This record gives sequence, structure tokens and C-alpha cells, in this order.
Amino acid sequence: MRKKDIAALFDRLAEAMPAPKGELEYVNPYTLLVAVALSAQATDVSVNKATRGLFQEADSPEKMLALGEGRLKEHIKTIGLFNTKAKNVMALSRLLIEHHGGAVPRDREALEKLPGVGRKTANVVLNIAFGEPTIAVDTHIFRVANRTGLAPGKTPLAVELALEKAVPAERKLHAHHWLILHGRYVCKARKPDCPACVVRDYCGFKAKTTLEAAAPKAAKGKRPGFDWHRDPITRETPVTTTYRNTQNVRRFLKAACGEDFVFDRAFMRWVKDGSRKTMGDVADEWLRRQTRSESR
Ligand code: SF4
Repeated sequence: MRKKDIAALFDRLAEAMPAPKGELEYVNPYTLLVAVALSAQATDVSVNKATRGLFQEADSPEKMLALGEGRLKEHIKTIGLFNTKAKNVMALSRLLIEHHGGAVPRDREALEKLPGVGRKTANVVLNIAFGEPTIAVDTHIFRVANRTGLAPGKTPLAVELALEKAVPAERKLHAHHWLILHGRYVCKARKPDCPACVVRDYCGFKAKTTLEAAAPKAAKGKRPGFDWHRDPITRETPVTTTYRNTQNVRRFLKAACGEDFVFDRAFMRWVKDGSRKTMGDVADEWLRRQTRSESR
């Protein structure tokens, strides 16, 4: 991809997500380290569910050791590989106390020496906790970098090194979050939402989806439901499971009330919670939240 296209691609992502943030919950560098270590082969949602209670009881290595491995396992037993992860968390907590005075080191080599901490986890911690311009390559970033042609590579490390060269210096701090969120919600693994993609014109992916392919197929013999790409979006449009993503909420708010949607995790959680909603409810809630934050 040409240099000026890469710069334009990041301009678009920055415009769409001016203040991107990760979705793992934490309260300090230590809990961030633990949350990232627990998130290997698990979703952020499942980790957050487990750590909310855990971090109230143990938000430091000392408290984690006092809590003990048995209680830790109770908290995280819903996360895959929890036995191994619990052992790693106990061991890394002990090492933090023995070698780093109980603090998380701002040093890649020291981080990678901790049990259960690899290059990816170290990059996330350095980026989020210490503001270092590192890019942790997970499955989403790996896919987006290869599909778009931004930083092709056969391994996560090759992609990371290619991204380091390709990403403009002023975009490096947030590149990790922009690419992850883009991969998670738009450039999805099985069916990328290319018609709604803000970087579509810079992307070199040859098999981009079309409106027809992105639209859900009506089940045989059943009345087709609402088709986001075909039917007009009104206040009555239901926010169905398929369409309640950031990109569509942004499109609707812009069209319905001229509002620029700034990615807001709490708001998207509200949009996605179990109750039935229409786009009218979404617009009303967004405006209510905006008014509330302006009056503070
Ligand atoms: S155009 Fe499609 S393949 Fe390319 S980045 Fe966007 S969603 Fe991904």
C-alpha cells in the first residue's frame, strides 16, 4: 500500500474513532496485565465478567497472593484454560513482588520473563499502561493488516514489524486499538462488512463483500425480515442482533439526527443488552447522554 494511502486510511479510522479504547476492564497496570494474560483464547466480554469481582478483592500482587490460587480459580473458572492461567497469575504476582517491588515493569524483556506473558501481552501493557507506541498483533490485526495490504506477513511477528515500518509515527499510539476495533466489528473474519467500511477505497482485499452478500438471506419459506441495506432506516427500525454494531449505529445517528457518534463502550453495551430496542430508542438515548454530559 502506498504511503499516502496508509496515511489516509489512518485518517479515516481516526475520524471514525477519535478516542479508541480497548474493551478489557482494569483499574491499574497490574490488573491490566492480569486481564490481558487471562484473555488469551478468550473473549474480552468473558474476561470482564470474571475480573469484575476478582479485581474488587485483588488489585495488586500482594492481594492476589493473599487471595490464594483456589479463590482465584473460583473467580476465573468460566474462562478457558483457567487452571493454567491461575497458576501463571500466582507465579507472576510472586515475581513482581520479588524482582520489581510489586510494580509492573515498563520493560519488554522484564515483562516477557513473567509466566504467561508473551510478546503480545507485553505490547498491550506497554501501549495501554505506559503509552508506548507498540502494536500487539492479535487475530483481528493480523487479518486486517493482510487483507487490506497495509502490512502483509505470514506470522504475527512479521506483521508487527511491517506495521512498525508502515504506520505513520503520529498514529502509532492508537493504531493497535483502531485496527482491533475495525477487525472486530467491521472487517470480521467470516463476512467483512465492506459496504459499511470507512477504509474501503484504500483496501486491497480482492474479495470485498457487496451489499447483496452482506445482507442476510431470508430463510426458505419465511417472510424476509428487515434488510438494513435495502429497507429505509426509520425510528421504528428494530436493532436486531445482526445489525447492532458500531458502524450501523454511527450511520443511523448521522442520518437521523446529524449526530457524530464517538465510540462509547458504555453506550454500545446499552445498545447490545438483551432488551428489544428500535433505532428511535437508540437516537433518544444517545441525545439524552450527550445532553447529560454537556450539562456536567
Ligand atoms: S473493505 Fe472489507 S476487507 Fe477491506 S478493510 Fe474494509 S471490511 Fe475489511
